[in-house]
Amino acid sequence: MIGPEIDRLIQLLAKLPGLGPRSARRVALHLIKRRDSLMAPLGAALAEAAAGIRTCSVCGNLDSADPCHICTDDRRDPSLLCVVEEVGDLWALERTGAFKGRYHVLGGTLSALEGVGPDDLAIPGLLERAARPEVREVILALNATVGGQTTAHYISDRLAHCDVILTRLAHGVPVGGELDYLDDGTLTAALRARRNV
Ligand code: ZN
Repeated sequence: MIGPEIDRLIQLLAKLPGLGPRSARRVALHLIKRRDSLMAPLGAALAEAAAGIRTCSVCGNLDSADPCHICTDDRRDPSLLCVVEEVGDLWALERTGAFKGRYHVLGGTLSALEGVGPDDLAIPGLLERAARPEVREVILALNATVGGQTTAHYISDRLAHCDVILTRLAHGVPVGGELDYLDDGTLTAALRARRNV
């Protein structure tokens, strides 16, 4: 019914996160209808990204340069090191524009169940960077999940002897959030992390 090129396009699109076969067909049709304005530029962008993007050997960020533009930007504060699980978390923090230090991407979280140990993540590199004299504060911006918290615990243990301040992101009431709608865990964390007004 449909040609092999379109079939292959749909099958590849269906492998993307959040897209099943049905939405893949819809996306394929959308692309084909906008062949010049969207499909061709997207194809070129994908080819360029596949050829040019590399992992930063310092922090684990994805960029066309190694070290990445964050690691080489001397306007950023080298005394602040923010630890995140994945590059997506780094991007989320960068979108806020609120952080002007450097990052360290772990590449996941520790998991005894799945056999993920410290050496499977970028933890040895983190311990080495945290011990450098210019680093004053290590911010653990890990997810509030079992894996994230286990990993934060392990890192704080390993850095306890180092001369750095260890901090983590606050847990609490989201901006614009209503108390009645919060889950018990979030509300408990917010109450525990209360502070002077
Ligand atoms: Zn980097």
